[in-house]
Amino acid sequence: MKDYYAILGVGREATQEEIKKAYRRLALQYHPDRNPGDKEAEERFKEINEAYAVLSDPEKRAQYNRGLLGEPVLRTENLFDLFAQVFGFRTGRAAPRGEDLEAQVEVDLEDLLKGKEVEVAYARLVPCEACHGQGGRRVVCPTCGGKGVLESYRQGLFGAFVTRSTCPHCKGQGHLLAETCPVCRGRGRVAREERARVRIPPGMDENHLLRVPGHGNLGPGGPGDLYVRLKIRPHPHLEREGADLVYRLKLGLAQAALGARVEIPGLSGPIPLEVPPGTGHGEVFELPGEGLPYPGEARRGALRVVVELSVPKHLSPKAKELLRAYAKEVGEEVAPEGFFERLRGFFRK
Ligand SMILES: [Zn+2]
Ligand SMILES: [Zn+2]
Repeated sequence: MKDYYAILGVGREATQEEIKKAYRRLALQYHPDRNPGDKEAEERFKEINEAYAVLSDPEKRAQYNRGLLGEPVLRTENLFDLFAQVFGFRTGRAAPRGEDLEAQVEVDLEDLLKGKEVEVAYARLVPCEACHGQGGRRVVCPTCGGKGVLESYRQGLFGAFVTRSTCPHCKGQGHLLAETCPVCRGRGRVAREERARVRIPPGMDENHLLRVPGHGNLGPGGPGDLYVRLKIRPHPHLEREGADLVYRLKLGLAQAALGARVEIPGLSGPIPLEVPPGTGHGEVFELPGEGLPYPGEARRGALRVVVELSVPKHLSPKAKELLRAYAKEVGEEVAPEGFFERLRGFFRK
């Protein structure tokens, strides 16, 4: 049997505190991460852990002192688990963060000019208060003894090694539920209505998501994030195309032919526009700087005015008369008066 006291450099009467102190100093010194490729350091690290595993456990220490300890105990323990336990951090898989969530806010097109602070209402999962997030009364999994993993020590070509697998009984949780919490039905988390205040930046794109850190579901490793999706309420006059805005200007026949002064309902107020005589259907007037801000920039896109020629469906007898006179003047051939009425009467017979 090895002299564990000598390995840790402590006397036989050393207190638990002294043993722990010695272990911490030596384990750091000989840790394989600090001595890459050094076989001797690796062996020392193993010995130090073995010694500490025995001497830190009063029962094993007593057996060892009486020379009754058989096999070296570290055969069934993981070196780095012990190290992590003493230094207060976990190895392996970190506790999972809560899931990210998505929520939607509705804003008006005008709100994108200067940006807006809005309140987002959504539901997220938080630890159940009734069971303190435990899901009910827990008992240590008897299969893995609470470790969540099963370890087996194997003899390989270059020495012994440990293989680990997730415990199938508790699925890696390390515990089982003896009684299920009736509030969360064993899930450990319940949905809660939340409100978060978020600032919609000027010109924010509808296809982008706004990240609000820490407002997602709460998990053992901390909260996830909330992603806010933007929805713009339909505007009575304007459509959005990136940083540009589109306005469809309806022009009557006379306006298009003779020109007109119109007002465009811009986002920041009415904009006067001179429509020149002879403006055709589909023509576009661009008003630079009257669109939305480019995200993160001071400059704004354009307001595009698209002309839509509005042909009257119903005309008064007087208007008809005037249009016929106009057609005659410019030599346009039109259907004779009453032609379509007679045509419809013919098909009805
Ligand atoms: Zn509960
Ligand atoms: Zn288990």
